[in-house]
Amino acid sequence: MTVGLSRLHFPVTTLGPGKRIGIWFQGCSLRCTGCLSPETWRFTRDKVAIEALMEQLRPWFAQADGITISGGEPFDQPQALSKLLAAIRQDFNGNILVFSGYTYAAIHAFLPPMAGLIDALVSGPFEQDSPQTLKLRGSDNQVLHLLTAVGKTRFSVFHQQLNDQEKVLDMTLDRQGKVNLIGIPRRDDLIRLRAILEQQGHSFTPVTK
Ligand code: SF4
Repeated sequence: MTVGLSRLHFPVTTLGPGKRIGIWFQGCSLRCTGCLSPETWRFTRDKVAIEALMEQLRPWFAQADGITISGGEPFDQPQALSKLLAAIRQDFNGNILVFSGYTYAAIHAFLPPMAGLIDALVSGPFEQDSPQTLKLRGSDNQVLHLLTAVGKTRFSVFHQQLNDQEKVLDMTLDRQGKVNLIGIPRRDDLIRLRAILEQQGHSFTPVTK
């Protein structure tokens, strides 16, 4: 089994509790207007074997509190998602959060084989005209589902409104000099950042969610 993979990051501190491993799937058929990660839309032929991906993840397990899977759209690859979750659960004791742009009704048929594998799920498309006041949500139409006892314990706090201290993003710098922003940005922040960087001749590709 293989998976279309965009990127991995560790540690991620802005997409769930604690220090997390971020796994971004490659490929999204939803194409929400205003999506800040259009580079993850394309479905590529280059795929990674689940076991090869697990080999990349395992060195981080001892230091990680949780794993966040986003995209792209993880449920556009439901079988790969299910296999990956099962493999992670065998070796990793932390909590697992998955983001999907599909509504819960659209993906609930895929969830029974994943029972117990996803602790918390954020579902629903990004709506650029919806308010943006809730934790873990890029737009307030999105719904946080707590699917396990661990999910209820660790993620119930994320049902609350976002406060000013939590309006933060992780930033990474890779070996090619590419800066990645990780988290759920406030829209005005990105507009201002884009304007500043483009004035100075830099390109701008945020990695969000
Ligand atoms: S916001 Fe998420 S679901 Fe929507 S187009 Fe972007 S990657 Fe896909």
